Amino acid sequence: MTSDLKGLLRTKGFKATPSRLAVLSLFSNECGPIDAKLALAKLKSKKINLVTIYRTLSSLEQAGVLKKVDLQRESVHYELSENHHHHVVCTHCGKTESFETCEISSIVGKILKNSPQFQSISGHSLELFGICKKCASTA
Ligand SMILES: [Zn+2]
Ligand SMILES: [Zn+2]
Repeated sequence: MTSDLKGLLRTKGFKATPSRLAVLSLFSNECGPIDAKLALAKLKSKKINLVTIYRTLSSLEQAGVLKKVDLQRESVHYELSENHHHHVVCTHCGKTESFETCEISSIVGKILKNSPQFQSISGHSLELFGICKKCASTA
């Protein structure tokens, strides 16, 4: 897995530094989106500080390795940008679940047809918000 990450960094023009590899490895092991504070907690043993994590996350995002996920929480979350999927987020406890069913591309033509200003659509993000079963049963 580590060699894959090195390759991924190199194809994006990054040197595979220990801190980049450490940050990136979180994303390949974890399925949910990660914010800087969570990354810091998970990398405690590696002595990587929060500033480095913020910088690493944003440079990986700019290079297209990671993408931002807006979970409508106070901090920005990131995940690997390669596999297309969406999330359902519990507004009560923050639990996230991902789903790969995506019908957006089938309505892009219609959206463009009705759009006065846009010529083409290159991508999208979509997060759904609700209440998980556990929170619903304890409420
Ligand atoms: Zn919940
Ligand atoms: Zn989609």
